[in-house]
Amino acid sequence: MPYKLVCFDIDGTLIDNVTSAWQLFHDHFRIDPQKRARARDDFYAGKITYCEWAEHDVALWIAQGATRERMIQAVTSLCVMKGALTAIGRLREKGIMLAVISGSVDLIPHALIPDFSDTFADVFINRLHFDSKGKLTGVEVTDFDIDGKAEALKRIAEREGIALGECVFVGDHTNDIKALKEAGLGIAFDPKDESLDQAADVVIREKDISLILPYILNS
Ligand SMILES: [Mg+2]
Repeated sequence: MPYKLVCFDIDGTLIDNVTSAWQLFHDHFRIDPQKRARARDDFYAGKITYCEWAEHDVALWIAQGATRERMIQAVTSLCVMKGALTAIGRLREKGIMLAVISGSVDLIPHALIPDFSDTFADVFINRLHFDSKGKLTGVEVTDFDIDGKAEALKRIAEREGIALGECVFVGDHTNDIKALKEAGLGIAFDPKDESLDQAADVVIREKDISLILPYILNS
């Protein structure tokens, strides 16, 4: 078994019923689509950084009076991906290190995946901050979304003395492409864009993430 580290995306990969956590909360707080489109366009045009984009969008939620409780309400429409707990459990049993490299927000996996903090050795994600009354106050932005996902993978591998060829990355969307290419085994799971087909070594279209196990454990 050549693989020692398995890194997962969150939205659409370990968590079902969500393409983007950001869109989920924008919908929940009824954010003006034009305001968010402007910030997204500015980011992709290189006018603002990812951090500025994330802070801008979180400020829109704060302006709507976002609280932890209301955000958890939004998360109740999501669920853990079919087969995710089986996959995580089996990989742990085999002593494989697990990590999350995500552009989601931390509230989501913490609310939905049992023992989330203990299960994953590394978690790269956007972290929301709340005050003592549960009001959303800001965000600690990940530096490792989109192309940064590959950088996070390299950092973990280097620190642990694991070759990139011994690493697996599992993701569903275009922000996972660089990491899928970098990992020894790139698995596109329920891919949302055909560009993932070229980037990945394996494509799984059936929505059951335990189907990754034979590729990792039987190779
Ligand atoms: Mg995703």
